[in-house]
Amino acid sequence: MTDQPFDSVLAILPQASIASGRANTPAAGVLYQTSLMSALVEGVYDGDMTYGELHRHGDFGLGTFNALDGEMIGFDGVFYQLRSDGSARIVTDDQRTPFAVVTFFRPALSLHLAGSAKNEVVEALTAKSEQNIFTAIRLDGIFKRVVTRTVRNQHRPYPPLQDAAKGEKETVFENIEGTLAGFRTPAYAGTLGVPGYHLHFLNADRTSGGHVLDFVVDSATAELCPVYSLHVELPHTAAFEKAALNDPDLSTKISAAEG
Ligand code: ZN
Repeated sequence: MTDQPFDSVLAILPQASIASGRANTPAAGVLYQTSLMSALVEGVYDGDMTYGELHRHGDFGLGTFNALDGEMIGFDGVFYQLRSDGSARIVTDDQRTPFAVVTFFRPALSLHLAGSAKNEVVEALTAKSEQNIFTAIRLDGIFKRVVTRTVRNQHRPYPPLQDAAKGEKETVFENIEGTLAGFRTPAYAGTLGVPGYHLHFLNADRTSGGHVLDFVVDSATAELCPVYSLHVELPHTAAFEKAALNDPDLSTKISAAEG
């Protein structure tokens, strides 16, 4: 008898224990989103959606927290909260969010990347995905450099995102192992989400990360999961219902705040 079957069981166990008690009817292939990026840039920072509910609709994604208290990155069924003090912790089911996008990550293809700057990675991912289809993207590996930003919790009256994000310090990680997770969003959905690529980072120690501004891959595997269905759940809040979402400059504001 070899050790192999035992090793295989050990490798599967963590996944299995995370999955237990979660979704009964996972809707594979649906991008499940709460609120709109346009509402977030307008300062709608409190939502009624819990992360417990979001877990029922995905094991992967990104977002933020009520009062804009940090960045969310989720993969392998675990959601993390990255706060502006540089800390990271696992999100609890009762935490609420004004904006998040999740899906069940089932990669359709993967590619290896080595020594590639962000623009080269974007070029490679763009060649392997479709401009009019949502794509969930995950990169695991070693990065020569990752530059992140993490939003700070805000106090009422809430400023617009462009102002809230102003003056946030950037964190530069060098020669670091970790995971980038996020989405490529079609241009036509540019006020629902962040058009183009929107990625968050978490280091392999699960202690730090944030919203990705720039990165250079040393050696990494990229996985892509095309998503053909979109479900947007709108907040049942007065702030959302009254937000000025008819502003023609919303796309510009999103680029300015999320670039
Ligand atoms: Zn982000």
